[in-house]
Amino acid sequence: MKEDYYDILGISKGASAAEIKKAYRKMAIKYHPDKNPDDAKAEDMFKKSAEAYEVLSDPDKRARYDQMGHAAFDGSGGFSGGGMNMDDIFSQFGDIFGSAFGGGGGGFSGFGGFGGGGQRRAKGSNLRIRVKLTLEEIANGVEKKVKVKRKIQAPGTTYTTCTTCNGTGQVTRITNTILGRMQTASPCNVCGGSGQMIDKKPTDADAQGLKVQEETVSIKIPAGVVEGMQLKVSGRGNEAPGNGIAGDLLVAIEEKEHESLQREGDNLHYDLYISYSEAALGASKEIQTVSGKVRIKVDAGVQSGKILRLRGKGIPSINGYGTGDLLVHVNVWTPKTLSKEQKEFFEKMQGDENFEPNPEKSDKSFFEKVKDMFS
Ligand SMILES: [Zn+2]
Repeated sequence: MKEDYYDILGISKGASAAEIKKAYRKMAIKYHPDKNPDDAKAEDMFKKSAEAYEVLSDPDKRARYDQMGHAAFDGSGGFSGGGMNMDDIFSQFGDIFGSAFGGGGGGFSGFGGFGGGGQRRAKGSNLRIRVKLTLEEIANGVEKKVKVKRKIQAPGTTYTTCTTCNGTGQVTRITNTILGRMQTASPCNVCGGSGQMIDKKPTDADAQGLKVQEETVSIKIPAGVVEGMQLKVSGRGNEAPGNGIAGDLLVAIEEKEHESLQREGDNLHYDLYISYSEAALGASKEIQTVSGKVRIKVDAGVQSGKILRLRGKGIPSINGYGTGDLLVHVNVWTPKTLSKEQKEFFEKMQGDENFEPNPEKSDKSFFEKVKDMFS
């Protein structure tokens, strides 16, 4: 049984937005991993409260939760529960911890790039954008230029070595216990673990010496990406103060609907409509593909439902395993109205042996074709 979000944050069902934020801030500070190193229970509480806050701070999600409970987010709700990682929490709610950099409180971190024993380096938060692509762009790969508002170190900001931890980002404490003297290391809460403090900063910079700047980022999108896929552009997220490392730019892929092609994995499907006479006499038809139009030959006597496979005219596999096919589904269009002459013609053909259905083994049934298509 999943815990109630209101219980996790210790608030009543009628709590105001300000109360929710305040309750979450309290929890986040109490269970902050910087204050509770290697404490799995605290980390669990930290994540749980972030999840509760994620839902209750959003009026839509809160209304759904109030109505349906946790069931509101099962399956397609987009929030599977317990799925937030530390990076997500910091990039989404980092501002709620207050500006800890240079001011105590243990907030600015982000958990990236902290090697064991080495100097902790603060990591800037990740940025997220969506990019909408046409099927043609997906098939061929594309370079997209997007405008991104990211935090950068404001020019003119200078840093000095933190005097509390001498730039190591850690403070060691020696305590006397019944087992003897013990040495424990914990992140320096004066510099937030970065080892540096702001010396000078221009007036347009925030407390961390950062300012927002719009930049054009060029993103190389490989062929074969899929809706929902996330690409990472390392180091193009928000910068971190001092010698910290920049966060990443996370690019979510969206696929625009194509007017005549349907995608199914790496294969594409196209519905081709031909007339009765084209089916009987054969025809040359133009087909839309992701690499322009191609002409295909439809043999005389083609049956409705036949699938013509154009090898390699689909989408390249993102993993490099070849390219999918374009499957052309032949649909013979039956006229809905007939002129007097046409009617007479078809009446004359009734009973004609050429017009009698006579499927051969090679005219596979619909089910066999479907089986074949997925093989
Ligand atoms: Zn320090």
